[in-house]
Amino acid sequence: MARTERAFRTDAIILKRRDFNEADRLLTVFTPKHGKIDVIAKGARKPTSTKAGHVELFTRVDMLIHRGRDFGILSQAEMVEPFLALRDDLQRGAYASYAAELVDRFTGSEDEDQRHLYNLLDSTLQRLCEEDDLRLVIRYFEIHLLGLAGFQPELNECVIGREPVMPEDQYFSYVEGGVICVRHAVRTGQLIDLPMVTLKLLRHMQRSPFSKVRSLKVASNLHEDAERILLGYITFLLERRLESVDFIRRLRQET
Ligand SMILES: [Zn+2]
Repeated sequence: MARTERAFRTDAIILKRRDFNEADRLLTVFTPKHGKIDVIAKGARKPTSTKAGHVELFTRVDMLIHRGRDFGILSQAEMVEPFLALRDDLQRGAYASYAAELVDRFTGSEDEDQRHLYNLLDSTLQRLCEEDDLRLVIRYFEIHLLGLAGFQPELNECVIGREPVMPEDQYFSYVEGGVICVRHAVRTGQLIDLPMVTLKLLRHMQRSPFSKVRSLKVASNLHEDAERILLGYITFLLERRLESVDFIRRLRQET
């Protein structure tokens, strides 16, 4: 939160919610202009609380937040968008939970402008309420989250030789974060097969607005293949991120 303001009003999406003290809740919320913030909703677990109904997971809430010593303090909360289908439908809710967790894990708690990622999460929750092909919604979310978090997969040129990628089966490297052509693949280890049809789908999702993607009829095995590549890359990045956090912590202890 900016040091200059003692209180601010913001739109916020609830990423995480846990019990805190006797009657409070600690919320992790995602905001467009301040990024990720932990806020305390005091008395939110009392049956008489007026705030309790407004702090459901994966809802968009208009909040007045006061700066506290360790956390923000939630002073007012008003529901803007309940995304009801995410609570009524188990599968839609599970995907929403996954999207919220990825936003949580790919962002730090520094105060920063995150409006692009905020808008992506907001529209993804909306799509998870409305669309039929939820896997398409989630793959689209993943590929754009990666771009906004600084890990845009390179799908247009070979990351070793930098020549344009040909329309044929390729390889993907988690370490290099992109496509490696057949010619350069021999010199590199740890490569994942990237069939041409999967590459085409990923490229289309990366460069197109969702309105152009939503009408695609994606076969189940192609869906599985796109998931294999993106989820594999995300898992790799998160493990490496955790390792680097560990490493920094160890260095700090030693010095
Ligand atoms: Zn190459």
